Amino acid sequence: MKFSKLAEYYEKLEATSKRLELIDILSKLFKESNADEIGKICYLLQGRVAPFFEPIELGMAENMVAVAVARAFNKEKADVIKVYRKLGNMGKAAEELSNNSQLTTNKPQLSVSEVFGELLKISRFSGEGTVEKKVSALCDLLKKLDPISAKHVANIPLGTLRLGIGAPTVLDSLSLAKHKDKTLRPVLEDAYNKTSDLGFVAQTFFKKGIDVVRKTEIIVGNPVRPALAERLPSAEEAIKRLGKEFAGEPKFDGFRVQVHLSGSSVKLFSRNLENTTLAFPDIVEGAKKEIKAKSVILEGEAIAFNPETHEFLPFQETSKRRRKYKVDEMAKKLPLVLFAFDILYLNGKDITEKPYKERRKLLESVVSKAGNIIRIAEEKKLKSAKEITDFFNEAISEGLEGLMLKKLDSPYIAGGRGFHWVKFKRSQAGQLTDSVDCVLLGVYSGKGKRTEFGVGGLLVGVYDNKKDEFVSISRIGTGLTDDEFRKISEISKHIRAEHKPARVNSDITPSFWTEPKVVLEIQADEITRSPIHTAGRDKEGLGYALRFPRLVKFRENDKQAEDATTVFEVVKLYSLQFSHYKK
Ligand code: ATP
Repeated sequence: MKFSKLAEYYEKLEATSKRLELIDILSKLFKESNADEIGKICYLLQGRVAPFFEPIELGMAENMVAVAVARAFNKEKADVIKVYRKLGNMGKAAEELSNNSQLTTNKPQLSVSEVFGELLKISRFSGEGTVEKKVSALCDLLKKLDPISAKHVANIPLGTLRLGIGAPTVLDSLSLAKHKDKTLRPVLEDAYNKTSDLGFVAQTFFKKGIDVVRKTEIIVGNPVRPALAERLPSAEEAIKRLGKEFAGEPKFDGFRVQVHLSGSSVKLFSRNLENTTLAFPDIVEGAKKEIKAKSVILEGEAIAFNPETHEFLPFQETSKRRRKYKVDEMAKKLPLVLFAFDILYLNGKDITEKPYKERRKLLESVVSKAGNIIRIAEEKKLKSAKEITDFFNEAISEGLEGLMLKKLDSPYIAGGRGFHWVKFKRSQAGQLTDSVDCVLLGVYSGKGKRTEFGVGGLLVGVYDNKKDEFVSISRIGTGLTDDEFRKISEISKHIRAEHKPARVNSDITPSFWTEPKVVLEIQADEITRSPIHTAGRDKEGLGYALRFPRLVKFRENDKQAEDATTVFEVVKLYSLQFSHYKK
């Protein structure tokens, strides 16, 4: 496919925010694509040249792109900056300058693969003279493109190609392109949950067919989308779901880490599948020394822990390790222990299909209880409500968050929230039993004292994973400290949107919209029905809203917008609060 054709599709995708239209356009695009380019197209749609978890970036700041655009269209950098300021987008500036330039040479009509190859080349330049090499390669590329193509290519290095297409939308469209309907989505989704690589899934599907996609296995180095827990109102309910005997483990309040080890190479991934290897040198070292396997993928919760006193430190302490600077100093000051709770891959084999009890045995064979940095999480086999309550109280008294109950015969379900894992979290009187992870959708300008922050309130939403859209659930004006208002103000500068972003469904309009990217953990007293919000809105026009919401913490580092609480979970939490009252 010619890149100019793909650019035409980019234009169409940019012009709509309706999901069904997005799927219609995407499936037409995929129908026109061949098996060799479909993977690349999937990456390019996300503005990337590799799956999102690979730290392969074009690495060009605004200034560098401006120089490349200037050189490509025989202008001065100052001219480019002027047009950029006027239009508010570097791609649009490149388009306008390309249109106005006198360059009438015959453009070669590059293919998608050629443009992809050039961008990949730019991402790989390193060492001396990198800046110049990148600028001149981008300049050469822009010269060969038509104005619309130049617009989109110039936006890629800056991360400003905002098509707002989520993975579920791409998967639906792939199914529709190759099949008469969307029914292949679950198979494609399963492969995506195991590999986190849309390009790989699309290419396998196009090249080898759905039966090969069905056999997709997890791969060391590709983060696996995490298994997630359900909530239940009582220990009695849990017993009904989990059977006669089940496992209980403490719920540690730290952050989830997926360790990928192969020989002496170790990669770490966060809850939202970001590569965090460089942030935790102590865990990397611990994994190399203390995991007894040739290759492994295991999961655990990293938490600041005092080995002398056996004291678990509160989340506020552990979270200091998420900073990206002074990494080595912090690793010494605040060492972490990784409490391993699951194993997904061992010595060349995907073991996610094995039942929990067998995985646990394998986990015990590679990690010891007495490890210094990598330790196995405590586990107790439980049978009764009393045993659950006792273990829960024990965990709470040790300063932990609660309990995880796990079904003994359940496989590891990548990317799935299900009753194979049930969580019980401590809660305080007058609060919902769980917090809600919301996505920042917009900001209200500050009045009075808050004028100085530029933020007086927030509009937040949750994720509707069926429709792949973000729906409003609350406005938050109080319950934030001055520092938190300042932080929101800083964050929102980078994600401010000119108009309501694609995939956002809200009747309420804030002072300005933000791209749905940042997740905030919100604690509320109650969930109520509300005609104002679009979360879970029914035929009568009633949605759900949070009552007395307040910010618990920023989760911008470990959750993507699509990992926020879903509408389905909100409805569950809403009904759980009634069974809570009945007790
Ligand atoms: P939360 O905000 O409660 O961490 P979540 O959406 O990240 O919610 P849940 O499915 O609700 O995920 O709870 C599972 C999370 O609990 C895991 O992501 C992990 O970080 C943490 N966790 C702590 N201890 C355990 C354990 N023993 N087994 C599994 N997960 C654990």
